[in-house]
Amino acid sequence: MISKILVPTDGSKTARKAAKYAVELAKMSGATVITLNVIDRASFISPTVPGFVSPSRPGVTHPEHLIEPIEDYLKEAAKADMDEIAKLCEQNGVPSRAVIRLGHPVEVIVKEAEKSKVDLIVIGSHGRSALKAALLGSVTFGVIHKDTKIPVLVVRK
Ligand code: ATP
Ligand code: MN
Repeated sequence: MISKILVPTDGSKTARKAAKYAVELAKMSGATVITLNVIDRASFISPTVPGFVSPSRPGVTHPEHLIEPIEDYLKEAAKADMDEIAKLCEQNGVPSRAVIRLGHPVEVIVKEAEKSKVDLIVIGSHGRSALKAALLGSVTFGVIHKDTKIPVLVVRK
C-alpha cells in the first residue's frame, strides 16, 4: 500500500512534472504527499573555503550575515514553489504538507523519507542544472544509490 509519498523539489520543470505524477498516484491510492526542498549552502558557497562565497570575488570573505539573506531568499522561492504543489494537491483532494530543510540534498531527502516512513519517493530525472546532457542529475543519482529500502520512482524530463 502507498500511504505516504515524498516529492523532493528544487522548483525545476522536471520536479514539477514529478509532483504532478505523485499527486495523480496519491489520488488513486489515497496517499498523503510530502514536498521537500533542501537548501544546500554548498551550492552557493565555495566547498573548499568554508565561509567564503565563490568564485566571483576570490579572497573576499562573506560572513554569516551575508549568507543568511541568500538562504532567506531561497526559502521564499521554495515556499512559493511548494505552495503551488499544495494547491494542486488540494484541487485533487490529496492531503499534503511541505518541508524545507538545510543540508546536503541527497542525505536530507533519504533521512526525511526514513523519518516520515514514506512508501515511495517520486523524483525528477533532472533539475535546475545547466548540464542538460547528463543522463541523470546528481541528486537523483545519489538518492537511487543510497542504502535504503524505500522505492524511488524517477519521472523523466
Ligand atoms: P545537478 O544538480 O547534478 O547538476 P540537475 O539539477 O539537472 O543536475 P538534480 O539536482 O539531481 O539534477 O535534480 C533531479 C531532481 O532531484 C529534481 O527534479 C528534484 O526532484 C530533486 N532535487 C534536486 N535538488 C533538490 C533540492 N535541493 N531539494 C529537493 N529536491 C531536489
Ligand atoms: Mn540540481
